[in-house]
Amino acid sequence: LWRFWGPLSALSKVYSQLLSAMASAERLFEILDTEPEVKNAASASALPPIRGEVVLKEVSFRYGPDKPEVLHGINVSIKPGQRVAIVGPTGAGKSTIVNLLMRFYDATGGKVIIDGYDVKDVTLESLRSQMGIVLQDSFIFSGTIEENLRYGNEHATDEALREAARSVRIDKFVAHLPEGYDTQVEERGSKLSVGQRQLLAFGRVLLSDPRILILDEATSSVDTETEQHIQAALATVLEGRTAFIIAHRLSTIRDADMILVVQDGTIAESGTHAELMQTSGLYANLVQSQLLMQQSFHEASSKPQAG
Ligand code: ADP
Repeated sequence: LWRFWGPLSALSKVYSQLLSAMASAERLFEILDTEPEVKNAASASALPPIRGEVVLKEVSFRYGPDKPEVLHGINVSIKPGQRVAIVGPTGAGKSTIVNLLMRFYDATGGKVIIDGYDVKDVTLESLRSQMGIVLQDSFIFSGTIEENLRYGNEHATDEALREAARSVRIDKFVAHLPEGYDTQVEERGSKLSVGQRQLLAFGRVLLSDPRILILDEATSSVDTETEQHIQAALATVLEGRTAFIIAHRLSTIRDADMILVVQDGTIAESGTHAELMQTSGLYANLVQSQLLMQQSFHEASSKPQAG
């Protein structure tokens, strides 16, 4: 049972790079030097500006013709601006659901529908430019802090850039660097702490202003002050967006408009915390078996969880 609330299995390198660099699909595949799994349909049209409604209709998926089916007829309906917490054991299919939303793969059965558009009918660029993503160990490019922020929106004004930095509370940190926003950072470099990388990624999201946000909630150990900054920045970043959060924190799960409990490739339960607690199902059992108290402990101490 412990595994249910434990950290997610580490995302593969390619996967996390894929997810981390959404602003430009072309740049991304340049970096990876790989062929995209999914290509634009010949008849694909641009997805107009969306409100952020997401519907999964009987969605099934397998990673290849010879691979087992890992999602089985999933039905989900999310209104614009709703906050969705995805929980479930490792291997349940949480990341796969997210993969399909971003269209890193296409559903092998059923449909992913955004604002009434089947995602297979729209161009990848128009879809992904309206979606944002922040991973646990957010991807930072070699370049300046400003360039890393601007990656969210290369046309952002300096004013918008400073405003985003203030909103995610990196302005003070940056002000203390001798070279400020021109400070060079490295992809895996140590100049930025895990928390600072996360905040930088949030800043990028604010600048790109996507209607749909996908977030793999960090479990990394950060100090209490950074944790407070992250929580405050997160609240700002989530505002007004449809959000899918692969959630680890009880507070995130409890505040969600909808909790999806994923198990063995199906949605075993869905509803709010209060609703699920009343059904005495899997979620309620897990809460009652006190696993969430360990989660609370994690929140209080901000120590890394045991695997
Ligand atoms: P979760 O995010 O809940 O831990 P995943 O969505 O990563 O679960 O995995 C669901 C299932 O799909 C697992 O059985 C996993 O082994 C399988 N899977 C995930 N990624 C791939 C892949 N790239 N190729 C083949 N199988 C995969």
